[in-house]
Amino acid sequence: MILIVDDTPENLISLKRVLERHNFEVDTASSGEEALKKVLKNEYVLIILDVQMPGMDGFEVAEAISGYSKAKETAIIFLSAVNKELKFITKGYSSGGLDYITKPVDMDILLLKVKTFYRIYEQSRKLIEIQKALLDEIEYRKQAERKKDEFISIASHELKTPLTSVKGYMQLLGRSVEKGDIPTVKKHLEKAQIQLEKLNELIADLLDISKIESGKLKFNKKCFSIDELLDSVIDIIRQTNPEFNILRKEKIGLEVYADEMRIEQVIINFLTNAIKYSPGTSEIQINVNVIGEKVYVGVRDFGIGIAPDQQKSVFDKFYRVEETAIHFQGLGIGLFISAEIIKRHGGEVGVKSTPGEGSEFYFILPINSGAETD
Ligand code: ADP
Repeated sequence: MILIVDDTPENLISLKRVLERHNFEVDTASSGEEALKKVLKNEYVLIILDVQMPGMDGFEVAEAISGYSKAKETAIIFLSAVNKELKFITKGYSSGGLDYITKPVDMDILLLKVKTFYRIYEQSRKLIEIQKALLDEIEYRKQAERKKDEFISIASHELKTPLTSVKGYMQLLGRSVEKGDIPTVKKHLEKAQIQLEKLNELIADLLDISKIESGKLKFNKKCFSIDELLDSVIDIIRQTNPEFNILRKEKIGLEVYADEMRIEQVIINFLTNAIKYSPGTSEIQINVNVIGEKVYVGVRDFGIGIAPDQQKSVFDKFYRVEETAIHFQGLGIGLFISAEIIKRHGGEVGVKSTPGEGSEFYFILPINSGAETD
């Protein structure tokens, strides 16, 4: 928008008319004081400023404006009777442009100057935008780099823990075998096996991440019963966590078309998280509903919960809630993989949670997620 400042109403009107005819948006002020008020409130690309005005003159207005951060990019064209007066501007008016036109105003020249200032303004605005986007990108990459470093250190630690246990059990096994103590051999073997299974899961997750990154996560879709899948998942979880009571309301008697193993992976991930992040509790609920052409599966726990401002981020890669991360082992990739699996089925994931009261992680999956197998 352009602001014209002139104490002579006829000048204001004629300038305004010409500029508006050339599709410029125009505002007017009939004194320096009024102009200052308007500049504080609105943003102008250009101010056309009469020099000789009663009260505050054009130069005083320009000097005052040069101090406003809002008017930093605003250019000024003075309308003055004598060009020499320009040298009276003592304060540097650096960022916007400065120019003058002598009176009586030659409209063609004025238009030319207005257009030039507009072009410069547009260009500098674009440059500022590009600069900002570049700075954002640099910051984003720096953060991603930091997260990756952090991840590598956590991942190595997470992989080393079960490996060290297996090494220990192997040594114990050796001794028990020498002694011919078969019951102890069996016990150590079982424990080593559990640790190996953990290692296997961690590596499978890491491989999934790299498949997602390279776009190679493939799906093998078929029709299967959600009820049966939940029965088998609940069985698996009960075996490893007998202390938890996993409650499931009604069955829905529904078949979906999706990758059964991947959907199982998501539900297991929600359930193991529900157990992990709910110390001191012993109940988990599974809620299943059909909503139109979609099925809702929610896993509700009564654990530590998640603060509202963190709820969206938990599905991000490598994200772990900082306040609680030290108390629980993890890589911060399970939910990211789950979200990716569901999104690639055309569904959505989410969480409802209250800190200290628990969370419900859910996904909403189309009953028929399409025939493609990518
Ligand atoms: P991990 O559990 O390995 O850290 P996830 O991707 O599975 O990674 O989860 C990301 C983060 O989300 C966790 O670090 C935890 O802070 C939070 N989170 C996940 N599930 C729950 C839950 N049921 N209750 C509270 N916080 C959770």
